[in-house]
Amino acid sequence: MAIPATFTFSQSSLKDYHDCPRRFQLRYLERLAWPAPQSADVLEGERRVWLGHAFHRLVRQHQAGVPPSVLTPLAEADADLARRWAAYLASPYATPPGSVRRAELILSAPLAGYRLEAQYDLVVGTPGGAWLIVDWKTGLERTPRSELERREQTVVYRCLLALAGASLNSHRPIPPGQITMVYWFAAGHRPAEAFPYDADQYERDLRILSDWISEIASRPEGIWPMNAARCPSCIYRSFCAEDVPALPAEELEAHGEMEEWLPDSLDLLEEIAF
Ligand code: SF4
Repeated sequence: MAIPATFTFSQSSLKDYHDCPRRFQLRYLERLAWPAPQSADVLEGERRVWLGHAFHRLVRQHQAGVPPSVLTPLAEADADLARRWAAYLASPYATPPGSVRRAELILSAPLAGYRLEAQYDLVVGTPGGAWLIVDWKTGLERTPRSELERREQTVVYRCLLALAGASLNSHRPIPPGQITMVYWFAAGHRPAEAFPYDADQYERDLRILSDWISEIASRPEGIWPMNAARCPSCIYRSFCAEDVPALPAEELEAHGEMEEWLPDSLDLLEEIAF
């Protein structure tokens, strides 16, 4: 099945392709729903995903102007959430300096004949000055810094802010040298990892992203390659690797492999009207 001309690539779909081309094909081209829970300990897996969603929702509201005095009682409904929320409020990333502040900002731009899109947890900056991308990590992720730097998310987020962030910067492109991306770990098990950017890396990333997209778009019909090494962490196990046991949630999380999947029934934290 060919990729439709209207297809929009993202860091998630690029990561899926690199993890396993067949997963990309099943998820984005055949649009197959997943019948298998991702982790071996289903409830623990769901709880960790819920924690991530609840934390992100609190932060989004805080960045939109809801005061901590309104949000903290919500966070205190759960001990793990309360700890992460308190760490966030005490961190420099709760109120980074900047006259422009966008939580859950979506940017997109044409690239290699398709569109590339990113949804950022937080982008803060000042037109003509420095720009900060913050990505909140709520789990006990232990991915080494060198892997974080090469991660599709790092490549896409920094590159797309330089490519498509002009609307934030008084309608002038944001120079790559003024962009820094930070992964901040709410569980407090490791310090934040900051990745500055520059013009050379931006040019390299444009080529890398174009090559990735072109490679995917030129894949022939038929079943795309399957990467058996990824099956234990894949929600399509029951479809193409039925006998492969799932990994525990803790191990998935440590490697940054938890799906951002959440059953409606677990979406317990209400949005605060303001
Ligand atoms: S179960 Fe394995 S082969 Fe199938 S999509 Fe997932 S990683 Fe790929």
